[in-house]
Amino acid sequence: MPLVVQKFGGSSVADATSIKRVAKRIVETKEAGNDVVVVVSAMGDTTDELLDLAASVTAKPAERELDILLTAGERISMAILAMAISELGVPARSYTGQQAGVLTDAAHGKASIVGVVPERIARTIQDGGVAIVAGFQGVSETQDVTTLGRGGSDTTAVALAAALNADVCEIYTDVDGLFTADPRIVPSARQITSITSEETLEMAAHGAKILHLRAVEYARRYGVPIHVRSSFSSKRGTWIGHDDSQSEESSMEDPIIAGVAHDRSQGKITVIGVPDVPGAAARLFAVVAGAGANVDMIVQNVSSAATGLTDISFTLPEADGEATIAALRAAAGDLGYADLRYDDQIGKVSLVGAGMRSHPGVSAKLFNALFDAGINIEMISTSEIRISVVTRADVLDDAVRAVHTAFDLDSSESEAVVYGGTGR
Ligand code: ASP
Ligand code: MG
Repeated sequence: MPLVVQKFGGSSVADATSIKRVAKRIVETKEAGNDVVVVVSAMGDTTDELLDLAASVTAKPAERELDILLTAGERISMAILAMAISELGVPARSYTGQQAGVLTDAAHGKASIVGVVPERIARTIQDGGVAIVAGFQGVSETQDVTTLGRGGSDTTAVALAAALNADVCEIYTDVDGLFTADPRIVPSARQITSITSEETLEMAAHGAKILHLRAVEYARRYGVPIHVRSSFSSKRGTWIGHDDSQSEESSMEDPIIAGVAHDRSQGKITVIGVPDVPGAAARLFAVVAGAGANVDMIVQNVSSAATGLTDISFTLPEADGEATIAALRAAAGDLGYADLRYDDQIGKVSLVGAGMRSHPGVSAKLFNALFDAGINIEMISTSEIRISVVTRADVLDDAVRAVHTAFDLDSSESEAVVYGGTGR
């Protein structure tokens, strides 16, 4: 019997009515002749509310306690969903991450899954029931409850799908699938029918809020096909990393560009007057790494022969900005730079597509589109299948639209539908 793992996000299980609708969908899948394992997120904004609750008693909650608190959200939705499914005459049992055998490292708040031993889940399916698993949580070696980071239920679903060798991992959300750009910025964004996992990884890593990054990494590593679709409709969504040769789309030529991602959450640090000698960058980025910052783009200017000094700029998550600046200040004597600047008014637009590999001229076209829109480029970085450009934050939306249009991604048909919630 085919095995389907279905993950329902917070907006799909926001209230009792939604949970009953989801229960119906699960039962239909089961009755169509599939084994079904379900992963749920916390209802609606529960996780944020729990965070607020913690913040109202302490500014610095202990990580361990915060994790126990946050996992409560998914425990509520899993139990209620199991009840709703049973009510429809199909046996259902809910399991916490720990009970489901989701083993993680001990990094509270951002734990990584190190193994999945889903014995009880497998037994529940064998007995003809539906297993409901709380997303976003696991257990560490020391038997402490951990969470996987915001949006982590996607990763739970993919990890379970891999461990159970499921035929597909369906990620249900409140939009019809992945789009060529954020429909809130580009109303003419087109739904993507299928996309490779490496393209999805690049989109997600560069700001597209589509799936938990780790989920995509996991799916890619274990070859789990993902189907992102709406829990509010039964339309085909977006297939990720799936061999599409059987489908009706196979006759169409693969598009060169998959989509345009944007990211508003980065800041830029410029270190001015760094001695241009071997080891300077190594020392500088050792300090940055020590501050825990994940650096994205780096640009080093040509040094002026007269001074023997150079400037180095790099981007990093805004959230890491303060700590990194403080660490660089503390190391000023050792690094020997002249000045430091921090700029959080930057935006990043990224064009992603596997077809870039074999199509020259993509960057020229991108730069031209930005030039035509009067947008200045501050930094550029590329991978084999991506070109990213840093702009001023206030022109980022214009940049996304200009690039989207230049690469003929605009749809002439229906506008993207967001059914409710936040798109998560
Ligand atoms: N409930 C958690 C969050 O809101 C995990 C998830 O939804 O995937 O981040
Ligand atoms: Mg959520």
